[in-house]
Amino acid sequence: MALISCSECGTEVSDKADACPKCGNPIGGGEITITNLALIDLEVYRNGVFRGKIYKGESVTLATDSDFELTVKETANGGSSSIAISKGDGGVIQAKARMLGGVKFVV
Ligand SMILES: [Zn+2]
Repeated sequence: MALISCSECGTEVSDKADACPKCGNPIGGGEITITNLALIDLEVYRNGVFRGKIYKGESVTLATDSDFELTVKETANGGSSSIAISKGDGGVIQAKARMLGGVKFVV
């Protein structure tokens, strides 16, 4: 058993727990890695909240400890692609937006 930090409140929680005992946030759903295959920088939003930029050729990793909608936006042209991520999702999801090269989501 390992202890991990709750992504919502920071409390140390067993990775086998279903939810954080302090705030109820679901735990242990894994993670998603988003790779920017486009020729421009992209912005990442989780449930509409800005989570950071992915520069050309780089990746970011987000916890999938709860269900959420992931949106990737072009910084320049306003194009966007959204995908629903479920806790515990597995496999590889290819998302093609208007952006050149698209974005690869590995859950
Ligand atoms: Zn918590």
